Amino acid sequence: MTDGPTAGVDIGGTKIRAAVVMPGGEVLTSATAPTPSGGAAMLDVAAALVERAAASAGVRVAAVGVGAAGVVDPATGEVLAASDTFAGWIGTNVRTGLGSRTGLPVVVANDVDSFLVGEATWGAVRGVGSAAGIALGTGVGGALWLDGALYRGAGAAGEIGHMPGFGDAACTCGQRGHLETLASGRSVERRYGELVGGVGVGGVGAGGVGAAEIEARARVGDPTAARVFADAGHAVGSAVLVLAALLDVGHVVVGGGLARAWDLLEPALLARLRDEPPVSGHTIEVRPALLGADATVVGAAALALSATSWL
Ligand SMILES: [Zn+2]
Repeated sequence: MTDGPTAGVDIGGTKIRAAVVMPGGEVLTSATAPTPSGGAAMLDVAAALVERAAASAGVRVAAVGVGAAGVVDPATGEVLAASDTFAGWIGTNVRTGLGSRTGLPVVVANDVDSFLVGEATWGAVRGVGSAAGIALGTGVGGALWLDGALYRGAGAAGEIGHMPGFGDAACTCGQRGHLETLASGRSVERRYGELVGGVGVGGVGAGGVGAAEIEARARVGDPTAARVFADAGHAVGSAVLVLAALLDVGHVVVGGGLARAWDLLEPALLARLRDEPPVSGHTIEVRPALLGADATVVGAAALALSATSWL
């Protein structure tokens, strides 16, 4: 294993970020740019950002880890599926494409997988044998850390956002009643708009009220705002119970933009766990993420670091 720094890259829908990370988890430098359209252009930007971050840190990195939006084939590093906001991303081979651009070994995982690796290596669930990660962002993502390693399945293991059983609202995927219809930033905006009625039903994108404003309103006593956050927390609690029943994970870390309102989510989430504790009798500890916006780049760098052990 290398003693030197590795690079972590977070490839998201609006921006791409690269960071140079020390083996202890310290971020030395980072660089960010808007996400261009098309897989090759995205890899060009990612490679340039790795170079820029390493140059400003004055170091050479030994390997690059990537946390990429979408479903990534663990064996090949190819993007198998992604939302339609990522034009030209499906079919892109991130491992070979970024490897040829940087001349460095590249390890690729999904962005939520990388988030969980970051939290399990240096964050909220550090030192824990098995944990689930839930990311409450624009959508809802999930990931699994089992017996001290990332569990990826065929690339989409732990993706609980599109798990059914959460009502009847239409989901972004075209189906109905998925966890994401209650617990994503977008769904909090849509539900608040529906409940208060009038202009802007459909959330901030439709000219309505954004999640940050709904959060602020909940804090000053708006019962509808408080309710949509409580409903999100309750839904996440139900998802945690399913994960615990299926995998006996004792720890869950919750991150993503919506989790910044942890105090608004946690009471209903914990009440859900208390109302229907696992029949195993095992306790479940649910913790907010510690690494914030750094979790994905830092986790991707950790994946690169562990991969250097076989170089
Ligand atoms: Zn869905």
